[in-house]
Amino acid sequence: MESFNYIDKVLENQKIYFESQKTKNIDFRIRQLDILKMAIEDYEDKIIKAVKLDFNKCEFETYETEIGFVLSEIKYVRNKIKRWSKSKKVKGSLLTPGSKTYIYNQPYGVSLIISPWNYPFQLCISPLIGSIIGGNCCIVKPSELSPNTSKIIKEMIKEYFEEKYICVIEGDIQINQYLLKQKFDYIFFTGSPMVGKIVMKSAADNLIPYTLELGGKSPCIVDESCDIELIAKRIVWGKLLNGGQTCIAPDYIIAHKNIKSRLIDSMIKYIEQFYTSNPLTSKDYTSVINKRHFERIVSLIDYDKVIYGGNLDTQNLKIEPTIMDNVNLEDKIMKEEIFGPLIPVMKFDNTEKLLYIIKQNPNPLALYLFTKNKKFENEILSRVSFGGGCINDTIMHITNPNAPFGGIGNSGIGNYHGKQSFDTFSHKKTVMKNLANIDIKFKYPPYTKKAYKI
Ligand code: NAD
Repeated sequence: MESFNYIDKVLENQKIYFESQKTKNIDFRIRQLDILKMAIEDYEDKIIKAVKLDFNKCEFETYETEIGFVLSEIKYVRNKIKRWSKSKKVKGSLLTPGSKTYIYNQPYGVSLIISPWNYPFQLCISPLIGSIIGGNCCIVKPSELSPNTSKIIKEMIKEYFEEKYICVIEGDIQINQYLLKQKFDYIFFTGSPMVGKIVMKSAADNLIPYTLELGGKSPCIVDESCDIELIAKRIVWGKLLNGGQTCIAPDYIIAHKNIKSRLIDSMIKYIEQFYTSNPLTSKDYTSVINKRHFERIVSLIDYDKVIYGGNLDTQNLKIEPTIMDNVNLEDKIMKEEIFGPLIPVMKFDNTEKLLYIIKQNPNPLALYLFTKNKKFENEILSRVSFGGGCINDTIMHITNPNAPFGGIGNSGIGNYHGKQSFDTFSHKKTVMKNLANIDIKFKYPPYTKKAYKI
């Protein structure tokens, strides 16, 4: 764990380095992206091993959702940063004839990135890409619950970057609390809504701009007008990816009463096709992060409602994919974000009932809707507020760098990925350049009646 003195020194040095103006240069930013890419490729095996040690994450998923994800993000933004960073001229106003107005993208200064453990590499590096393309210096604080990945990120960044530009600070919550008291110029936080509130309050003390990427209970609605087989496959994949520990995982399923039992049968078929009839021993099935979360998830299981799964491997912290049927809003599992491989299923027979259920947990991070009924689709999209989501799929919206990713209210404030990462990490500075020889007399006192007509 780093000392508070060390943090003070790094922050001070980063502030000085930012003032040197080096990080603002666009070629510098592109060079840093290239270095980051090189570092990740060099550390690929070490990253996969570290994530495996932290929570036995399936190796293919580590490549797909952590390493591959950020490498393609680097490639995408590298090709566009020159265009995005140019100042933009906008139309003038009638009150200042002949003037020109520009919007400049101004880096904030030194940013702080605080990340959770569930995608321990991606959720540190993806915002870091935003900080780099925005022209900022950065302190990254990975989660203490994934210590092996935290250590590898620290080692990688230390080897490839000067700490006056990017530095990884490791440690427990005390370190986070200390960091949050410092005068950063931007805070980017990913984690739970509960800690999000702490971050927001700390940012308020120093009026620091921030982004909060939080979580919540994301509904998955299955209408009767669907191809059940494909839906079941996509739901099971999205739910059990990363052992169910994905912020945008479908949290619970609300299926139309006419197809609910067929959907459940199909989901069981795909669970076994993906992870065998004994998922606890499948190499592709990821463990729960720690004993505390394991016990928390197990406490959400109501064995009277379990119709599939329910077995546990306490030693390896694995919980079988577990389907609970006839769940209702009073059940414990509907009171908090599950963040694990439990699949509660509810039913609906009309839209109002469905909306009533969804609105018990307002502003979810994601919403998934499986339907072929365009009218129903439009109604759900216009009446439910949520961060983002998919029609006829799960998770995949996060893979499109052309669109912003983020929550709303309880599930987050602000967005990132692709162009949105650039915008998030740069202040839009509007500057009007006025003419020195044309002036509107009426705007100055003493005011005359003519002034009202301007
Ligand atoms: P968490 O909120 O417990 O921890 C996140 C970070 O905050 C960690 O680095 C931790 O060290 C720090 N932290 C914890 N308590 C703190 C405190 N009292 N003061 C200051 N810092 C503190 O979240 P988690 O368990 O690591 O991650 C799971 C949550 O994150 C879920 O709610 C999930 O939905 C959400 N999440 C959201 C996204 C997204 O992109 N929106 C992505 C991943 C996870």
